Amino acid sequence: MSFPTHKKYIIIGAGIHGLSTAWHLAKELKARKRGSGKDILVIDKTAIGAGASGIACGVIRNNYYQAAMQELIAHSVDVWEEDAQGYGYLPVGYMQISPERMHADVADIHERQADIGYESEFIEGEKDCLKYMRGNVFEDWQAQNVTSILHEKRGGYAHNTKALYRLADKAEAEGVRILTGVTVKGLPHNGCVTGVETTKGLIKCDYLIIGAGPWANSFWDMLDLPQRIDVRDNEGNVHPDIKMWTYWSLQEGTLGIEPTYGMDNRGKMPPVIHVDTDAPLFSSEDGSLITEEMWGIYYKPDFHFRGIQGGATPNLVKKEKVAVDPYGIDSPDFIVGPEFAHTWTSALAHCQKRYEDKYYRYKKEPSGGLGAFTPDNFPIFDVMRQNCYMIADSSHGYKMIGVGNLVAKELMEEKQPLLRPFRFDRYDKGELLPESNSPFPWS
Ligand SMILES: Cc1cc2nc3c(=O)[nH]c(=O)nc-3n(C[C@H](O)[C@H](O)[C@H](O)COP(=O)(O)OP(=O)(O)OC[C@H]3O[C@@H](n4cnc5c(N)ncnc54)[C@H](O)[C@@H]3O)c2cc1C
Repeated sequence: MSFPTHKKYIIIGAGIHGLSTAWHLAKELKARKRGSGKDILVIDKTAIGAGASGIACGVIRNNYYQAAMQELIAHSVDVWEEDAQGYGYLPVGYMQISPERMHADVADIHERQADIGYESEFIEGEKDCLKYMRGNVFEDWQAQNVTSILHEKRGGYAHNTKALYRLADKAEAEGVRILTGVTVKGLPHNGCVTGVETTKGLIKCDYLIIGAGPWANSFWDMLDLPQRIDVRDNEGNVHPDIKMWTYWSLQEGTLGIEPTYGMDNRGKMPPVIHVDTDAPLFSSEDGSLITEEMWGIYYKPDFHFRGIQGGATPNLVKKEKVAVDPYGIDSPDFIVGPEFAHTWTSALAHCQKRYEDKYYRYKKEPSGGLGAFTPDNFPIFDVMRQNCYMIADSSHGYKMIGVGNLVAKELMEEKQPLLRPFRFDRYDKGELLPESNSPFPWS
């Protein structure tokens, strides 16, 4: 196939957002008789799933303190459920297990879930939480300082690359072309974007969509958007000169034991477990104190990762200049080290007796990766430079498979209320999403 010189729609990035947008946009164009998938070109410098989407642990949860996030994710869970098998989505549910200082926040989350019809159960009080966990999930449960459990009955996790290939197949079946091995070097714009300058030549376009995950900042630069901004908080106070993009190193790894070892009391796949606690954490290796600060982990048995896979709170990258490439497990700087392995395996042992003597089974292979975060750590979904839709999910958006569906509708001039809270001008207007008491930057 010859190299294109013009496409009506160009999408940069063959990750979860680029591919979902491509497929949904192709369907919208066809349904409205305004074109077809043949009007859409997806460009990726490497391959499908070469970015964050291809290394994400794939957890899909609604547990967000922000009502806008909850509604957005509920919509995405509908999309996951439409083709669960095709996407490799396992609807095992999700449990947010919390200490007293998060109790009230999580109670609010539960209440809002009830309001929007997102099925979940809320268990309160130390005794009842222990009883619920031992009776219904893991009889060897032993985590301390737990006073509430939010058990989401929907969500769970997906096989990260399977979902991407499924979306790519669906897009290609609609006529979308996916061009890999082509790097975008510049975005000529004169008020609006006129095309993309690539390593193989210029491709003109009428509309550009960017779903570049951790590389969001390089496209922000190409669009000559500001590297520092003033942020107005919800009380009207202006915080001047805030960095537009910060980077966190996401900490994940796998215990190399049979996933069946992590099954629940019924011998079945348990919900994804997420524990935040202020109980002291001791080493399962030598009994030494690891931390008395609040800590958090998540985990699940995972056949794709061949073990018990999960993560812990991410680390803020403090460098002024951050190299996103080489990305993911190829990065010498942003893969997890022995400190993560020690903390995470000890945290597993804190939660369940069966992991007390399993720390040595931690897989010593590279894992984890970098994420680009916005000033308030929540996504920006907005039109920049008149004809460029930026999908910048602030690095917790694998679960947001439905955003492409909503963006496609906005491209057809149908404004989507679910996307409205994620406009860029919220920083100027003082319409920030509320902050929670979770130790994670994205909750
Ligand atoms: C270790 C880790 C675990 C995570 N776990 C979860 C999770 O459990 N649940 C969850 O919801 N989220 C999770 N996330 C976050 C999630 O992975 C990302 O938010 C999401 O995948 C971003 O998708 P995307 O499509 O925007 O970008 P990406 O998947 O990163 O895709 C961007 C693509 O753009 C391409 N590209 C970049 N620059 C150029 C260029 N100049 N020219 C052409 N192409 C280019 C890249 O090659 C890449 O393929 C995790 C992230 C990490 C790092």
